[in-house]
Amino acid sequence: MIYQRSSALFAAAQKVIPGGVNSPVRAFKAVGGDPIFVKEAKGAYLYDEDGNRLIDYINSWGPMILGHAYQPVVDAVVEKAKKGTSFGMPTEIETQIAELAVSMVPNIDKIRFVNSGTEACMSAVRLARGYTNKDKIIKFAGCYHGHSDSFLIQAGSGAVTFGSPNSPGVTKGTAQDTLLARYNDLDHVEQIIESNKDEIACIIIEPVAGNMGCIPPVKGFLQGLRALCDTHNILLIFDEVMTGFRLAKGGAQELLGVDADIVTFGKVIGGGLPVGAFAAREEIMNHLAPLGPVYQAGTLSGNPLAMAAGLAMLTELNTNPETFKSLAEKTEYLHKGIEKALKHHYVTHTINRVGSMISVHFAKDHVVDFDSAASGNNETFKKFFHGMLDNGIYIAPSAFETWFITNALTYKDLDDTIAVVEKVAATL
Ligand SMILES: *Cc1c(COP(=O)(O)O)cnc(C)c1O
Repeated sequence: MIYQRSSALFAAAQKVIPGGVNSPVRAFKAVGGDPIFVKEAKGAYLYDEDGNRLIDYINSWGPMILGHAYQPVVDAVVEKAKKGTSFGMPTEIETQIAELAVSMVPNIDKIRFVNSGTEACMSAVRLARGYTNKDKIIKFAGCYHGHSDSFLIQAGSGAVTFGSPNSPGVTKGTAQDTLLARYNDLDHVEQIIESNKDEIACIIIEPVAGNMGCIPPVKGFLQGLRALCDTHNILLIFDEVMTGFRLAKGGAQELLGVDADIVTFGKVIGGGLPVGAFAAREEIMNHLAPLGPVYQAGTLSGNPLAMAAGLAMLTELNTNPETFKSLAEKTEYLHKGIEKALKHHYVTHTINRVGSMISVHFAKDHVVDFDSAASGNNETFKKFFHGMLDNGIYIAPSAFETWFITNALTYKDLDDTIAVVEKVAATL
């Protein structure tokens, strides 16, 4: 395919926007080539500036779980926009979406809305620190919780007690308070807790990892974390920015039957507008300003436009819970088709899937943590990505991303996708 117009738009963008994008992964750096500029989208399809139709497996990185320009969401936003888009004053719709979210998700009494998943996770950690009066946090290598300082941490070689920042601009002081553990390795977490006795405020985790490709928690892992947290007076934060309102009405907590202390949201909860949220039991949430001492605020937080989109989205999911089953079935169908095609052409791979989260790792062994995810063949992924794209299938331009399945996909779309995988696999 020729992307003349996209390439021209990208050249113009690069002059005034760093790297031509407002979020780095959009820039195709991991796969080579210029990013595609999108003009509009409807349902499962993107229409780019060069006049191509693409089947979309990113869906704005998750929010468009019911498809692009989903009518009830569009209508709600248009209606609200006519009445003013932000007041910095309380509005009824904030309570309506809060009531609905609290009724759908286990273990939460109160929820606070922010503007992104990053903000939600950053605020959740501050709340956990304020609530427990402890400073350190445990996060897992390969889990993404947004781009705030505490989370941009990688372990130095063999260092478990001190993380080292993996972005300039993150101070050593901040890095020291973030302890890094291996995903799916309970013993490692236990060791870290032992060597930081009474210093750890919270463990934050993606209950199903989605930012190193899809990696499910092994049996007993989350339950083990829950028990460790209970024993050591540590709060367990489930970052459900990706899994929330995707894996089930109540997210990963419901699907996997494990209780978190604080839950964070983003993506689906905003229906495609900038929304994040964090939620917990009343006793924890009451530590937030203005009730408690932990400060958190936002000029545009809970604005009516964002709340209207989110409320319309959650209402749809709440009234049609079979959506989650339908999504999981479509994803399983895709899984089987891709598996068959890759096997047919002897392409080394491992497919991980939970509900409507799926990823194809071009790795030999089971992918259970960051190291095994990183063992995947990136050259094969690049070829696969461009092969798919040339044939009208848009997957994330990075081997470390989950495919985001939308319920707008038809079985015909899935068959078309599988046929392209078959064709591309022959070239790998
Ligand atoms: C996307 C994501 C975030 C960050 O959300 P933004 O809205 O991009 O700030 C945090 N955690 C997880 C698990 C995510 O997938």
